Amino acid sequence: MIPNAGVLQQLPTQFFAHLVKQVNQKITEGKDVINLGQGNPDQPTPPGIVAAMQQAVAAPANHKYSQFRGNQAFKQAAADFYWEHYGVKLDPEKEIAVMGGSKIGLVELPLALLDPGDTLLLPDPGYPDYLSGVTLAKVQQELIPLLPENGYLPDYDSLDEEIVEKAKLLFLNYPNNPTGAQANPAFFDETVAFAKENDVAVVHDFAYGALGTEAESPISFLQSPGAKDVGIELYTLSKTYNMAGWRIAFAAGNQQIIEALNLIQDHLFVGLFPALQEAGVYALESYEQVDELVALYNQRRQVFVKAAAEIGWQAYPSEGAFYAWMPVAKGYDSTSFTELLLEEASVAVAPGNGFGAGGEGFVRIGLLVEEERLIEAVERIGELQLTFE
Ligand code: PMP
Repeated sequence: MIPNAGVLQQLPTQFFAHLVKQVNQKITEGKDVINLGQGNPDQPTPPGIVAAMQQAVAAPANHKYSQFRGNQAFKQAAADFYWEHYGVKLDPEKEIAVMGGSKIGLVELPLALLDPGDTLLLPDPGYPDYLSGVTLAKVQQELIPLLPENGYLPDYDSLDEEIVEKAKLLFLNYPNNPTGAQANPAFFDETVAFAKENDVAVVHDFAYGALGTEAESPISFLQSPGAKDVGIELYTLSKTYNMAGWRIAFAAGNQQIIEALNLIQDHLFVGLFPALQEAGVYALESYEQVDELVALYNQRRQVFVKAAAEIGWQAYPSEGAFYAWMPVAKGYDSTSFTELLLEEASVAVAPGNGFGAGGEGFVRIGLLVEEERLIEAVERIGELQLTFE
């Protein structure tokens, strides 16, 4: 008999894998599906970064095993990036860890910081992959509700005391997936105070860190005084530079957490391909094209939200990431509305309840297709003559 660890059976079903399968099925049937269901950047990686990678790949020095804990130049570039964009000082050796994308970091962190049975606080709605780390590390999750009336920020005062007492770690994510909500300095200050008071470590997932409005960039958790005493932030190059397939990210902040993350990675991996880290340095030092990307996503958001309003479909006023967060039509829930749109309009969206019960009543629209396709999607939905509240 081939053995099979029980923990694998407990892993949550891969929510996006299911969605992709359904969409592919429709495409095979010959349907012209407008896929607004995923979070995969549609634009290419800027050519300068590609060229830097091409050059780095050709250098024999980059063909050897890399250093275990990341190349000094990449860590220095990460520290410089935080200083330049957020005014946050970081020691590149002690306060930066290099990761093959932030998803792996998010799964490693519960393993690195918690023992089985310990409690982790997760946002609801939230990024579904947080749950993978929970299962693999055999920790307990407690969901903290994010409500639209609170701008999808947790209300720490309303949390059950018993839960707060046993909590050891808290995950947060702003700009938020799936809602597009943004944090503000007062909220991050409050988070630091909550963490100190209750002895909870904080992991801020800053995956959409570059994607705010043209007028205002998202703020970093590490900008709050004392944030480094309690937590870290994960920064990925996936969205900022359209490098989702490249798999490169870093963690920044609290030394003990960075050390724990590095230690677990020493045992799980050899470091990232040195050429990739070299191209990563180039990316972190060339930010200009990001403004264009932010303008593109905001233009798409405006076009979509305006077209939707014309059929009576009012978006939640998101200002971050590359999503629109939309209520379902009257008489539907997230699942049935998603099914309706796919079946009757060949428009794929992500059901809000796939991000947790707190996402029920909404769907997430990925603004990752051309404007014309966004307009066409709304037109198709308009033809269904639905009522929105
Ligand atoms: N966190 C959030 C909130 C995300 O939406 C994503 C990607 N969709 C990730 C983390 C993972 O990003 P990466 O490519 O760095 O693994």
